Amino acid sequence: MSEIQNVMVFGAGISGKGAAAELAEQGKTVFLYDDTPKVLEPELADALAANGGGFVSGNVEEVLAKVQQVVLSPAVPLALPVLQKAAADGIEVIAEIELAWRNFPGHMIAITGTNGKTTTTTLVGEMMKKLPVKTAVGGNIGFALSREVKGLDKNSWVTAEVSSYQLEGIRQFSPDVAAVLNLTPDHMERHKTMDEYARCKRNVFVNQTAKQVTILNYDDPEVRTWGKYCRGKICYFSRKAVLPEGVYMKDGSFFVKWNNKVSEICHKSELQIFGAHNEENVLAAIACGYFAGVTAENMRQTLLDFKGVEHRIEYVTTIHGVPYYNDSKATNTDSVIKALEAFPGGHIILLAGGHDKMTPLEPMMSLIREKTDLLILLGEAKERFYEAAVTAGVQNIVKVDTFKAAVDTAYAVAKPPQIVLLSPACSSFDMFHDMGERGRYFKKLVHELEK
Ligand code: ADP
Repeated sequence: MSEIQNVMVFGAGISGKGAAAELAEQGKTVFLYDDTPKVLEPELADALAANGGGFVSGNVEEVLAKVQQVVLSPAVPLALPVLQKAAADGIEVIAEIELAWRNFPGHMIAITGTNGKTTTTTLVGEMMKKLPVKTAVGGNIGFALSREVKGLDKNSWVTAEVSSYQLEGIRQFSPDVAAVLNLTPDHMERHKTMDEYARCKRNVFVNQTAKQVTILNYDDPEVRTWGKYCRGKICYFSRKAVLPEGVYMKDGSFFVKWNNKVSEICHKSELQIFGAHNEENVLAAIACGYFAGVTAENMRQTLLDFKGVEHRIEYVTTIHGVPYYNDSKATNTDSVIKALEAFPGGHIILLAGGHDKMTPLEPMMSLIREKTDLLILLGEAKERFYEAAVTAGVQNIVKVDTFKAAVDTAYAVAKPPQIVLLSPACSSFDMFHDMGERGRYFKKLVHELEK
């Protein structure tokens, strides 16, 4: 391929802007394209203009005719006909994380899975801070990876949260440590089939070499079988089986066993996060930390200090003896199942619904029947959820029109030993800008009731 000078960055979100800024600093002419007209921050606009580029919207073919490379934001599918045509014409089309990878001389841990990515990435990022080298965290967690790796040397370590959208467009991306947490139905509107979703997830390790490490969840029936696709060393983790080698739990404690050496890290009762799903996240994080060279003692300290991440079964407050939890990040059914399971006593008043992702609801609804005293449904999804709940035999269901009505309804009926849990199984775009705004609004309403 001829020398790349002109690049189109497709999508002006966090990753797209980060990639554009980075490429402009490298002296490339960058056309930052988005379907929706946008006003860039002056600094970025100036940097792009200095090399003859800038923001463009409108005729995408016209932009493509001028470039040798396209860098994709996660939201932009590789399957778009214009991109397929561009690739056929010899234009290189890559994901933003691929760009980051190519520009980064150091070591990388990449973490993917349907759920738990942010929690695990945050935890690993904290463990890595204990190493005497430069470290950073980036990717799907909200910071453009191509910016976060900037200025890092060959001894540094970056911890990247990577989504299936980002992994779709990789070429040589090959992290030193790749972890797959789990795989359950999600994002079918983009990937169309589970096979394609799984293939994208496997891209996290597909280019690895024998010296690199793949960390796989032994308890996930699908992910467990992926060893056959790996070329790196495989380290399994399990909370159910005491593995002959790997990271596992025994009598409630976390262990690493590798090269016939066993280290105990800590006991689950010492953690501030809870639930079986978080034990899996901890196991994966320990495996990542171990292969990056973090000592058992430093991992232990980090785990004991870790308070979890906002909007993930986050404790809000207790009113009249009833605790309120914000799990706004539960945007798919599996994460709701995990949240319900995290409260073994049941008696849950569950607030669910939002923008419907159209995934199957049966497994979640049968657990809702078992675990909840009341199901409060809202948002675009409420009618489909209602039908599924009735079919599953859920007894107490209320449909409400506003988010505030959902919280008020819960407050009006809740009494100990019940708990109130917002865990929507939906994205938030029908009512909110994102799940963070939804979670903050929930907390605000709850705190108002407290007064
Ligand atoms: P992601 O970044 O993959 O979306 P998060 O750590 O943000 O993952 O968690 C998303 C949701 O999934 C939260 O509701 C959280 O409680 C739940 N969750 C976290 N870890 C897991 C896991 N290992 N398995 C299933 N659900 C999980």
